[in-house]
Amino acid sequence: MSDSLRRFLLEQTPVRGEIVHLDATWRAVLERRAYPAPLEKLLGEMMAAAALLSATLKFEGSLIMQMQGSGPVQLLVVEATSGHTLRATAKWEGDLPEGDLKALLGSGRFVISIVPEGGKQTYQGIVGMEGDSIAEVLEHYMAQSEQLETRMWLASDSRQAGGMILQKLPAARADDPDAWNRATQLGATIKREELLALPATEIIRRLYHEEDVRVFEPRPVAFRCSCSRERVTSMLRMLGHDEVRSIIAEQNSVEVDCEFCGRHYSFDAVDAEQVFAAEHVTRAQPTKH
Ligand SMILES: [Zn+2]
Repeated sequence: MSDSLRRFLLEQTPVRGEIVHLDATWRAVLERRAYPAPLEKLLGEMMAAAALLSATLKFEGSLIMQMQGSGPVQLLVVEATSGHTLRATAKWEGDLPEGDLKALLGSGRFVISIVPEGGKQTYQGIVGMEGDSIAEVLEHYMAQSEQLETRMWLASDSRQAGGMILQKLPAARADDPDAWNRATQLGATIKREELLALPATEIIRRLYHEEDVRVFEPRPVAFRCSCSRERVTSMLRMLGHDEVRSIIAEQNSVEVDCEFCGRHYSFDAVDAEQVFAAEHVTRAQPTKH
């Protein structure tokens, strides 16, 4: 099945939905790094969740979802762009227990950042990690930060990930006050295997065949890592000339691996000096008033 997002509306009701299916996008993450099974499940679900959220929020740029834990798993990160590309990574230590979110992350916090393209006005929302699953944490976040009633169902295995989100939009008319309850009760009957195996149109047909549903055209989703030598260069500048010199003195080079895609960046002594030489040129330019 192709990697895509599909939006739908229950006509004459305030209910909006979105379904995502990730296939090659999810496998691109797994091919680059091996994750222990319990963590793999969480990361796949979080990737599906980020795709769903990026499709429902209005933004241009990147949406970064982080779960910061105090347990054996310290961090889960998924970045989704407004162009529907995704990347993901996680940090953990030692052997992981089987179990839910709490067993893996302990107590922690959930952070959503929106970084606009080329802009600096980053929006950030932080909530405590309340809930036993990625879906519950997200539902809690949306209720608290966006004041939007949200239900989410997520599933992942070692080949694919999928999910569905329902949102209750603020409606001017309330002709059908039971619509939200009806939609979420039907939504809750979706099975994990169905989310993974069925095309979005089939899921919508099974759940909402008695409703008047408008289904939109699918939008493609893909894996893409935005790392580049240029970005690593600015990271080294932030680290500072002295720090980089001392790494060169100790190790002869600075070696950086992208945590998302595994791409390797190497700076020898000459490269490193150029990083800072270029900075002096930029700084030396007179500012115009
Ligand atoms: Zn990368």
